[in-house]
Amino acid sequence: MPAPALILHPVPALADNYIWLLHSGQDGDAALVVDPGDANPVETALNDRGLTLGAILVTHHHGDHTGGIARLKALWPQARVIGPAHEAIAGLTEQVDEGDRLQVAGQQLDVLSVPGHTAGHVAYLMAAPSDGSVPILFCGDTLFSAGCGRLFEGSPAQMQASLARLRDLPGATRVCCTHEYTLANLRFARHVEPDNPALMDRQTECERLRASACPTLPSALAVELATNPFLRWDDPGVIQAARHRAPSPASSADAVAVFAALRAWKDDFR
Ligand code: ZN
Ligand code: FE
Repeated sequence: MPAPALILHPVPALADNYIWLLHSGQDGDAALVVDPGDANPVETALNDRGLTLGAILVTHHHGDHTGGIARLKALWPQARVIGPAHEAIAGLTEQVDEGDRLQVAGQQLDVLSVPGHTAGHVAYLMAAPSDGSVPILFCGDTLFSAGCGRLFEGSPAQMQASLARLRDLPGATRVCCTHEYTLANLRFARHVEPDNPALMDRQTECERLRASACPTLPSALAVELATNPFLRWDDPGVIQAARHRAPSPASSADAVAVFAALRAWKDDFR
């Protein structure tokens, strides 16, 4: 008998967050949610589907990713609350770090340390979902579609190394980012690479999705490799644009220098 298809659903929350909800589609199933910044939409989504809460995964300590934990724990006291070992987050029942392997909601998840946005940020990778579907990555505020998180606590070198690890995952990987920033990110990406045809295609697709109030996520890693300037530090056009922006003769072809120039450029891009 084939394993039941997993259901992966972005629950819109706060201004522009998504709280990812994963469950097996079985009645009364215990679901997994990622980065619940607000409890209300999670409560509604679980009740609407007849689910209980089995586990919460947290990627980093920011309030828009953790604000709903206390209320969800009060509602579902048996739920596991799993988060990064090196960040102060109230209510965790399990602290995880690079290399840890978890069994959650019938799935195997690997923990990746991806510092940069915050110092202890982790991502969760489901390399082989139980239904035989393609890998699923919960990357928090590290990688966005056509963008990446701001460097609040980490250096460009740390973030570039974190993104380099994510870049090596299979191209089919479903990238579950936590914010609907795609169209704004594409505007910057097109500024960096005005002649990249994949960017025009992605923009057309995302404008159509947003026009019908649909999420632009999950993205596919292969789409990000073709369109996300923050994963394209070795593309000649991106290198040239970064060099134009921040001339640094010695190291302008160096991946970290290219990444740092792009990140600084986007920080004041309006
Ligand atoms: Zn954040
Ligand atoms: Fe966030």
